[in-house]
Parts: sequence; structure tokens; C-alpha cells
Amino acid sequence: MSLIVYLDKARIQPALDDIWHWVADIDFGNGILTTLCGEEHEVVFENYVRRPPLKTCWECDLAYRRAMRISVGRTHPALAAQCGTLRGTPPSPA
Ligand SMILES: [Zn+2]
Repeated sequence: MSLIVYLDKARIQPALDDIWHWVADIDFGNGILTTLCGEEHEVVFENYVRRPPLKTCWECDLAYRRAMRISVGRTHPALAAQCGTLRGTPPSPA
């Protein structure tokens, strides 16, 4: 018998390279988590108290704000990065 842990994807804080993302989907069959910005990775569990200082994934933040109809300021970092990409310059690191 296995112990079941029920996860609420709105309350999970997935981190990749010390940047936290919003969850788009979790495939419980293969343990792959997909973020709003399109990252797909296998999940590894870690104790919350061991969490390092995390930076925000601005692409996820923008996608979350748009999905939840939260206002997005013109100076949002993800918008600035997209504008830079459109102009042919690489986005600056978050
Ligand atoms: Zn992200």
C-alpha cells in the first residue's frame, strides 16, 4: 500500500535553476511537470525549508496574469524581453 499525497497545482512552487515557475500541468503517470512558460521536467521532491532564494520566472508570471485576468503593466519584464526578441536582441536575464 502506498501513501497518497494530494497536490494542488496552484500551491506548488516548482523551481528550476533557482527560478520559480507556475504549474501548467502535472502528468501523474510519468511524473513530468509542465510550467506555464513551457518547461517540462521530471519532478523531484525537496523539503521547503531547504529552498534557496528564488527568482521569478517572468514568462510564467505574464502567462498567469493573463490567464487570471490580472492587469499587466507596460514595464513587465516579460514584455520587455519579448520586445527585445522582436528587435533581434536577446532578452536580458531575469
Ligand atoms: Zn516559467
